Amino acid sequence: MPATPAPILPGATIGVLGGGQLGRMFALAARALGYRIHILSPEYDAPAGQVADLEIVAEYEDVHRMRQFARGVSVVTYEFENVPSLAAETAAPLVPVRPGGNVLHVAQHRLREKTFLRDNGFPVTPFRRIASLADLAACAAELGLPAVLKTTGFGYDGKGQVKLRAPDDLASAWDRLLGAEAVFESFVDFEKELSVIAARSITGEFAAFPVFENTHANHILDVTFAPAAIAPEVVTAAQELARGILETLDVVGLLTVELFLTRDGRLLVNELAPRPHNSGHLTIDACVTSQFEQQLRAICGLPLGSTELRRPAAMANLLGELWSGGEPRWTAALGHPDVRLHLYGKSQPRKGRKMGHITAAGATVEDAVRRVTHARELLCEPCLPGLQ
Ligand code: AMP
Repeated sequence: MPATPAPILPGATIGVLGGGQLGRMFALAARALGYRIHILSPEYDAPAGQVADLEIVAEYEDVHRMRQFARGVSVVTYEFENVPSLAAETAAPLVPVRPGGNVLHVAQHRLREKTFLRDNGFPVTPFRRIASLADLAACAAELGLPAVLKTTGFGYDGKGQVKLRAPDDLASAWDRLLGAEAVFESFVDFEKELSVIAARSITGEFAAFPVFENTHANHILDVTFAPAAIAPEVVTAAQELARGILETLDVVGLLTVELFLTRDGRLLVNELAPRPHNSGHLTIDACVTSQFEQQLRAICGLPLGSTELRRPAAMANLLGELWSGGEPRWTAALGHPDVRLHLYGKSQPRKGRKMGHITAAGATVEDAVRRVTHARELLCEPCLPGLQ
């Protein structure tokens, strides 16, 4: 057996590829433990760069800058899975990249991801590779409709996907995806959408957070709450499913498993993300260890932290449209002492852009959801009464 690599201790410098809010919250958690953070992203004054010790503005394919970056850090991680594989390949001979390039390779391509899951016995909805309109017609006849057609790469928040309701939709859907390689997925008539965020350390130690229940609006995550309103057996099954995936992929770091719970009680994997996840933001305020600190511990070879949920909690995303009437009314939303605000340092509030989130704790999960949604309403509705 290969020896376990030595832990990377506080004081060391961690490299993060990507400058978004996930990198920002990771950097803040790492700084709390005394690490230094270098961020590489193509964007100047990125959310993560604003809180890093060093912000390097470079393209991911810039091999020279990537090598310089890798030489200056003890480990490289990433905050989104669409980092070009060349970036991980350039850094890997110089410094550990965690999770490894194999995980990135699988998770950044829907067809590879679904094939990996199916071939290893993990439950997924029936799917097929589509390379032409003729493939699409044949597949619709074989698997039936409704279905969802998705591009194989660079999809998130429902981008790059089209619902197919009837045979008449096929040609326009194929045109909308611009004839790119695609995946046909049978539509899942789900009861709930869930996610499991789990960590696996260099030593193989595994820890899963409580299962999160997610609701979406316009294909974008809207509200997450924990604990999910599901039976304890489903919690165990979801966490064990995640364990199997992390072990099979040999993940060192964090992996999020997005799941559908079908109306007949089955769990199906929708998507994998080899990083912290929007649905895990409530861990910052509600769990003993946040998902970001857990990512840090896993990639540095420190013991994993407790994932215990201290109190029922809920998180609501703050999208750019909340700014349409001017600056949101922060004071009103923070009127309840159990509401916490997180903003990502983005100056341009575009529609659908994730600008921040709020979390609320409560005596019950219903209380927490009510509080967080009410607090969000107060941000832009001056006439609402104070929080209950
Ligand atoms: P994705 O980008 O694959 O995570 O999909 C975004 C959202 O679209 C999911 O969270 C679901 O709400 C919905 N969705 C995606 N795939 C399917 C499917 N096969 N059946 C039903 N709904 C889906």
